[in-house]
Amino acid sequence: MILDGKKVAAEIREKLRKSVAFNLANGLRVPKLVIVLVGHNPASEIYVANKIKACQEVGIDVEKIAFEEDIKERRLLTEIRKLNNDQSVDGFIVQLPLPEHISESKVLTTIDFRKDVDGLTPMSMGRAIQGLPAFRSATPAGIQELLNAYNISTEGKHVVVIGRSNIVGKPMAMMLMQRPYLSLPNMSASSMGDATVTVCHSKTRNLDAICRSADIIIVAAGSPKLLKAGMVKEGAVVIDVGINRVDDASSPRGYRLVGDVDFENVVSKASYITPVPGGVGPMTIAMLLMHTYVAYNGRVLGLKMK
Ligand code: NAD
Repeated sequence: MILDGKKVAAEIREKLRKSVAFNLANGLRVPKLVIVLVGHNPASEIYVANKIKACQEVGIDVEKIAFEEDIKERRLLTEIRKLNNDQSVDGFIVQLPLPEHISESKVLTTIDFRKDVDGLTPMSMGRAIQGLPAFRSATPAGIQELLNAYNISTEGKHVVVIGRSNIVGKPMAMMLMQRPYLSLPNMSASSMGDATVTVCHSKTRNLDAICRSADIIIVAAGSPKLLKAGMVKEGAVVIDVGINRVDDASSPRGYRLVGDVDFENVVSKASYITPVPGGVGPMTIAMLLMHTYVAYNGRVLGLKMK
């Protein structure tokens, strides 16, 4: 069965749209998200355009602040501090990757975790590891929400995560192995976890055998067709995070997007599987909107993170 991230994300957006409209009708302001974009990375420009469109659809006030590639690190950090202190801004994100001369870790460390709606700062991750309220990294949070939407429990399951990045692999593994805790108001997936997690990466030996022992496999490696049918146990759940461009002369763009899973061959073995596109991607954006709404709730309705 296909895990339809596009559909579940649309349902989340619809719920948010109604909540935003309800608050507005009752005299409250709408939530505000700021997206900081540095330079002209073509993929980043597409991601930012999609995020803006999604915000507009649900009625979130969204502002893009664009800087040229050569902005000085100091200036960018100053702009981030301004956003931390701007009372009209509920949450903001700095689109990654950043140009080489700017330290990603300095940028992330400067963002106030209460406005960190992408859930990527060291403070957010540290708090999440300790079970304290914090925004969870958007992509792993989206995966948890998607599993939740299809009533796929992770309790006691062996989950193999392929990839150990700070934005997907590490936070995903951490969330799955946690005891369930209430991280934030309005979050259904906060009760998920309790899995036995194995994290695999480029130096892992016996990847095939490890994957074959998994009840759930989450692949975030950035390598097309990495997960083959022979690596998947009959009936396993397969989550494909990968977004890879492969040449395709028949497409008007000259390329098409594929995931990290050999979908055509794995689909018949998996009990549930996400497509690319239309699986994890839309869920990631839905989480950004949900987190913005939760940040707004904290500021406007007094549901504070402590
Ligand atoms: P990354 O690109 O920073 O690193 C890749 C990780 O995969 C590394 O930890 C590496 O050790 C591991 N890896 C690479 N090849 C491997 C192999 N052959 N065997 C085992 N492990 C291997 O990771 P990332 O930033 O998490 O991105 C991974 C993929 O997910 C990319 O395609 C990216 O575009 C995509 N992504 C998608 C979303 C989304 O919303 N759908 C969000 C973030 C990233």
